[in-house]
Amino acid sequence: MSLPTFKRGIHPKENKSLTSESAIEDFKPSGEFVYPMSQHIGAPCSPVVKKGDRVLVGQKIGDTEAFVSAPILSSVSGTVKDITTRMTISGGIEQCVIVESDGEFENGTTLVPRGDFKSLPPADCVKIVREAGIVGAGGATFPTHVKLSPPPDKKIRWIIVNGVECEPFLNCDNRLMREEPEPIIGGLEICMHVFPEAEGVIAVEDNKPEAIARIGREVSERGCKARVMPHRVKYPQGAEKMLIYTVTKQEIPPGALPAEVGCLVMNVRTLYHIWHAVTDGIPVTERIVSVTGDVIANPKNIRAPLGTSVRAMIDAAGGFTGDPVKILAGGPMMGISMRSIDVPIVKGTSGILALSANAARSFTETNCIRCGRCVSSCPMGLQPSLLDRVVRLREYAEFEAAGGMNCIECGCCSYICPARRYITQSCRDGKAGVMAARKKSA
Ligand code: SF4
Ligand code: SF4
Repeated sequence: MSLPTFKRGIHPKENKSLTSESAIEDFKPSGEFVYPMSQHIGAPCSPVVKKGDRVLVGQKIGDTEAFVSAPILSSVSGTVKDITTRMTISGGIEQCVIVESDGEFENGTTLVPRGDFKSLPPADCVKIVREAGIVGAGGATFPTHVKLSPPPDKKIRWIIVNGVECEPFLNCDNRLMREEPEPIIGGLEICMHVFPEAEGVIAVEDNKPEAIARIGREVSERGCKARVMPHRVKYPQGAEKMLIYTVTKQEIPPGALPAEVGCLVMNVRTLYHIWHAVTDGIPVTERIVSVTGDVIANPKNIRAPLGTSVRAMIDAAGGFTGDPVKILAGGPMMGISMRSIDVPIVKGTSGILALSANAARSFTETNCIRCGRCVSSCPMGLQPSLLDRVVRLREYAEFEAAGGMNCIECGCCSYICPARRYITQSCRDGKAGVMAARKKSA
């Protein structure tokens, strides 16, 4: 029987074997740690410390009153060296708190370990999630306490656990499922405590048999009322909309959130953080990153404090074996090309990918030959060649009318295009053009 999946999509080369068998390694560097005040979707935080202050691990260093946001916590103990603007991993310039570590990693969180979550009111669990600074760890970085607070008229019927990790090269979620399934299923149980009528479905791509087995064993040993659902290997299976379609056969209306169709989608690592925050009082101060690519000496999965520099992460993986022509934050499909490696890892950093000229497949664009391959691969059912054309003519109203704002920037169209058109980039530009026009008219 064929496994469930979504409509259209592509099959890029997986390249997972570079790090799939590399157990998670802990890395605790010394020196300077940089914390951008915006590591999430929503309002940026403002620093709540000043230059010269001593800070501890888990201590809040940035916060805001805004609901759609999440606090920033120090990942080391040490002294606030500066509060200034710095380049971030996405290439933007943002306000950052810079801490010089004392190398002691002295704990200073105000979160209290609660032990058995079943005695806690659901609203208290949500408050703890907010105070722990938890955001979607799959890369979307949507604040998790907001996800756990849908409008009262939206009934959550499915909690879908995202263990798909369809992005080539990356293995941080795969390794976490294989090595530490307990907090993942524990985090799911906390979400099911918040939404007791919801069904738990754990989605994992079929190319991760060990993860499916470990997660399945944990579910049955704990008596968790959830089911593991292997998915067919196809990109972008891990995108929220594709996942919801595969599990429930529902499509989310344009511009709506998953709660509109009764769904809550949680990445495995987000659940891991929820469990540790609620039961152990541990906030988000570190993350697992796959440091990989054909010019990395020892590709591996590294667990490091947030704020660690990308350069230090690459050094921890043995450095470069050749000249990288491209270094990406994330995977090759949805990753962002980095302008510098002297930038910090943040809550949404899942991978650092360094590629040689041979592996990066840099090509020159040619004219569209109207082959239609981009149309038949687009998981959102768009006409990428049309979107590309109207954006290059700066016809943003046409871009919007053709559904361009629904583009999820998955990169399928650019990958499949024989003319090597930069279609995904056009879609990004088109969305920015529409937003600018909306702002102007407002
Ligand atoms: S148009 Fe957008 S959603 Fe469609 S394939 Fe291209 S990047 Fe993906
Ligand atoms: S895949 Fe490329 S060449 Fe083919 S129709 Fe789309 S944009 Fe044109």
